[in-house]
Amino acid sequence: MKRKLDDTVASCNLIGVLNSDYPGQTCSIARALELVGERWTMLVVRDVLLGVRRFDDLQADLGIARNVLAARLDKLVAAGVLERRPYSEHPPRHEYVLTEKGLDLWPVVHGLMTWGDRHAPAAGGPPTVVEHRGCGGAVDAHGRCERCGEALSARSVQALAGPGASPRHPLRRAPGGAAPLAG
Ligand SMILES: [Zn+2]
Repeated sequence: MKRKLDDTVASCNLIGVLNSDYPGQTCSIARALELVGERWTMLVVRDVLLGVRRFDDLQADLGIARNVLAARLDKLVAAGVLERRPYSEHPPRHEYVLTEKGLDLWPVVHGLMTWGDRHAPAAGGPPTVVEHRGCGGAVDAHGRCERCGEALSARSVQALAGPGASPRHPLRRAPGGAAPLAG
């Protein structure tokens, strides 16, 4: 409960203190975009969903300036979308994982992906495909499995490199070529 309150305070402070992109907008879409609408932010969220969770790996995959990546990660942590999880004590190292609030972005990411597949397609086909883990069914437009009808969440799906995946696609290096999004 305390954590939830802290997250809420952090995200409200963030909107109130930092420059707002959409001042005067009493709109939940505008408020969400204040948190996740900056350049690169949704691609950071995408990479973490695909299992790219360490700073240097994110930087290499995204190819962005380290200070820009650090700023995006700090903002997502302050907003309670990501949290830092230690994976080494000596030397101290951490990786980034999605909180429950962050995992709730999954339908947004998936919606953008399927919209892009349809309206801004890659030459070789979809770079990433998502399926119901353990079932193999595709995800329909309503977030349900096309094969078994189950309502899907980030916890019940996995992503695989699709036919249009580049040689650098992170899932080409993933064990079994697939990543559970909430792993
Ligand atoms: Zn299914």
